[in-house]
Amino acid sequence: MRPILVINSGSSSLKYQLVDVDSSVALQSGLIERVTDHAMAFKQMIQELGDVSPLAIGHRVVHGGSEFSKPVIIDNAVIARIKELSSLAPLHNPGHVAGIEGAVAAFPELVQVAVFDTAFHQTMPVESYRYAIDQKLADEYGIRRYGFHGTSHAFVAQKTAEFLGKDLSELNAIILHLGNGASASAIKNGESINTSMGLTPLQGLVMGTRSGDIDPAIVAYLERVAKMSIDEVDASLNKNAGLKGLTGDSDLRDVESRAKAGDQVAIDALAVYSMRIKHYIGAYLAQIGPIDALVFTAGVGENSVEMRSQITSGLEHLGIKIDAAKNQLRDKSAREISVEGASVKVLVVPTNEELAIALQTAEFLS
Ligand code: AMP
Repeated sequence: MRPILVINSGSSSLKYQLVDVDSSVALQSGLIERVTDHAMAFKQMIQELGDVSPLAIGHRVVHGGSEFSKPVIIDNAVIARIKELSSLAPLHNPGHVAGIEGAVAAFPELVQVAVFDTAFHQTMPVESYRYAIDQKLADEYGIRRYGFHGTSHAFVAQKTAEFLGKDLSELNAIILHLGNGASASAIKNGESINTSMGLTPLQGLVMGTRSGDIDPAIVAYLERVAKMSIDEVDASLNKNAGLKGLTGDSDLRDVESRAKAGDQVAIDALAVYSMRIKHYIGAYLAQIGPIDALVFTAGVGENSVEMRSQITSGLEHLGIKIDAAKNQLRDKSAREISVEGASVKVLVVPTNEELAIALQTAEFLS
């Protein structure tokens, strides 16, 4: 099969990857930054790609609202809907629309598919997605939990089922996608029944620069008492919170090396970060029932030996116990790190969102 071109277009950047789906290999990839004109960025990308003819284009789209639970072929109506959903994802959807329009202009003959970060979580039941707020407001403004990183959670769920030799429809698991952005998902019978991000990617776990869960009254308190504008509060919670807010550093590697050197601020931040994750593990165990696997993925989940150890410590009574030697091993493939005979398998399963988008695009075409 000819390769699939995967495009992740932001407001000022264009990331692309040419993926051979038969071998799951990225043939070419690139990042064009400081984009002011997406048409120009596509010209540059085509130059960089040289003489290739992709079969189709898969676009990453962050917010698909309630209507997109699967990838869709992009037409004018889909573009209009992604544009409308910009109010729910102002930092992402406008850049996606610019990227899609640029790609349609550059490759008018190719099928273009939108793959949504929210789609996988559309199977959540009402008790997981509904907020207990005035339902007139919720209905009028589309306020509910949508969840994100869905492409990654879906890909990792599939890889986990394969690793365990199970059918996806029989998989019960908790997946921890811990990167710069971070989210947990509860998987029952292969479907997402809960996830930690919400209306926006601000809710849930402690992230690189995002707060995750806080008392919602903090927003009004900062406005009234600290005299911050609503945009200042929003920017603070999104860009100056999480590990960055706790320590000044947003990269977990920096926080970990400070903690190793005895820095109490960093030690406390790691405790806050890991305790939030434990809180979700407990909640999701109560919702799912017995699980086959607790799965770590993304930058932190795949690489931080210390954080995997800190998150799982004290969870032995839940059947979760890792083997210190297995946890130390570095590998690029899916692997088990739990002790022999533990009732829950603890796994490290690398994610690959570009490959997932390419596979979904190819599957859609066939
Ligand atoms: P991602 O968003 O999935 O690319 O993850 C990026 C984050 O992973 C970085 O901000 C780091 O905090 C974290 N990370 C990557 N490698 C390591 C490592 N070896 N140890 C700890 N954290 C890591």
